[in-house]
Amino acid sequence: MEVAVVGGGIAGLSAAWRLSAHHRVTLLERHAVAGMDAHSLDLEHDGRTTRIDVPLRVIYEGYYPTLIGLYQAVGVELERTNYAGSFSELDGPVYYRYANLIVGGRSVPLPALPLGRASLRINRDLLRFFRMAPRALETLGESEEPLGSWLGRAFLGTEFTEGFLIPTFATVCTCSSASVRSYPARVILEYLTRGLTFGGVRRVVMGTREVVKRLTAPLAEVRCGVQVRSIRPDADGVSIAWQGGEQRFDQVVVATQANQASGMLDAAYRRERDALARFAYEPSEVTVHTDARLAPRERRHWAPVNLVVSREHDKPMATIWMNRVQPSLRRLAPVFQTWNPIIAPHPDTVKAHALFERPLVNAASLVGAREMSLLHAQPDRRIWFCGSYLGPGIPLLESATATAARVVAAIDRQSVASANAA
Ligand SMILES: Cc1cc2nc3c(=O)[nH]c(=O)nc-3n(C[C@H](O)[C@H](O)[C@H](O)COP(=O)(O)OP(=O)(O)OC[C@H]3O[C@@H](n4cnc5c(N)ncnc54)[C@H](O)[C@@H]3O)c2cc1C
Repeated sequence: MEVAVVGGGIAGLSAAWRLSAHHRVTLLERHAVAGMDAHSLDLEHDGRTTRIDVPLRVIYEGYYPTLIGLYQAVGVELERTNYAGSFSELDGPVYYRYANLIVGGRSVPLPALPLGRASLRINRDLLRFFRMAPRALETLGESEEPLGSWLGRAFLGTEFTEGFLIPTFATVCTCSSASVRSYPARVILEYLTRGLTFGGVRRVVMGTREVVKRLTAPLAEVRCGVQVRSIRPDADGVSIAWQGGEQRFDQVVVATQANQASGMLDAAYRRERDALARFAYEPSEVTVHTDARLAPRERRHWAPVNLVVSREHDKPMATIWMNRVQPSLRRLAPVFQTWNPIIAPHPDTVKAHALFERPLVNAASLVGAREMSLLHAQPDRRIWFCGSYLGPGIPLLESATATAARVVAAIDRQSVASANAA
C-alpha cells in the first residue's frame, strides 16, 4: 500500500519505520528536518561542533520497553547517565539533594548533603512512599482518582509532596503543579515503581539525529518542510493537501499532536475531531545557555538536574547541567538547558530557545483515548492516529512509540484480512 505518515516526532518516525517493512511509506514533516530533531543545537566551541538535543530526553528500562526494543532493532546505542538532582526555592539555598552513583552498571540513589531537617523528612517520606506504592497501585486498579486527591489521604508530609513529588512530576510531565495534581494517581505511581530507582536513566549516545537517520533509512520518501493543510477521505483512500501539493494515499497515519491533527481533518472525520478535542496541552519553554544564575547558588550543590520552586510560579524551573549528562561536553565551560525558566538567562548567554507543548493526562484525555481506540477498531479504516497523547501512562517517548506500534499492527491485520478476502 501507499501509506503517508504525517509528523516526524518519535511516533511518526517509529510508525513509518515499522510500516516500511510491508508498504511504500512517505513521511511528511512541517519542519526542515524531522520534528524530533528540529530544535537540537550545534554548539560551537574551540573550533569544534557538539550536537545538543533540545529538549534532552532520557529514558529508563522498566518504563520504555517498546522504545528500547525499537532502538535495539535499528542499532541505536544507549548509555547510562547521571541524573542526580537538587531542589531549591527561588533565591534560596538548596533544601534537598540526592546523588546518583553508577556502579557496576547499576544506578544507586543516595541522599546527599545538605541533610537539614526538611531533607531528612523528604527522605523519610520517600522511603514510605516506595513502601506503600505497590499496595496503593493494587488498590487503585483502573481508578482515575487524581493524584491530588490520593495525596490528601496518603499521610505524606508537605515537604515531600510540595517540595519533591509535585515539582519532580511537573518537570517529567513539563506542566504546571495544578495539572500534575489532576493526573491519575496510578499513572504517577506506576512511573516510579518500574525500576527507576536502581535502573537509572539512559540517553542516546549519538543523540536524536542518529535516531532520525536510522528510522528514516528504509522509507520510500521523506518530505520535510511540508505543512499538511487538510486530510479528507476519497473513494478508496485518503487525500492529503499542503501548500502547492496534494496526493492520494491508501492509508494515512496522523502522528502530530492532537491539537494539530484536529485542524487538518475534513468535516467527514467528525468523530475523530471530537475525540482529539478532549486532549489539552500546556506550553513549555526550553533555553540552552551558559548563565550560572539559573543553577544553584553554590557550585558545590550543582547536580545534573536542578529544580527551583517558587510560590509565585506554578511551574518549577529545571536547569540541566549538560556537562554532567553528555560526556562530549564534560571538559567544556558550563552549558545549561533550562526548562520553563523562572529567571530569564542573560541574552548574551543564550545559545538556543524553543517552545513546546505537552499533553495532559486527566479524566477528559482518558475518555479521548478510549474513543480513539473504538474508532481504530472500525473495519476498513483508512486514517489512524498515534502520539504520546494517546497513552498509556505519562506522555513520553514510550507512549508515542507504543501507540505507533499498535496502529501499525492494526494496519497490517487489515491488510492481511483484505488480501485473504481477495
Ligand atoms: C522539555 C521537554 C522535555 C522532555 N523530556 C523527555 C524525556 O526525558 N523523556 C521522554 O521520554 N520524553 C520527554 N519529553 C516528551 C517527548 O519529547 C514527547 O513525548 C515526544 O517527543 C512526543 O512525540 P510525538 O511523536 O508523539 O509528538 P511530536 O514530537 O509533537 O511530533 C509531532 C510532529 O508532527 C509535526 N507536525 C505537526 N503539524 C504538522 C503538519 N501540519 N504537517 C506536517 N507535520 C506536522 C511536528 O513538527 C512534529 O514533528 C520531553 C518533552 C519536553 C517538551
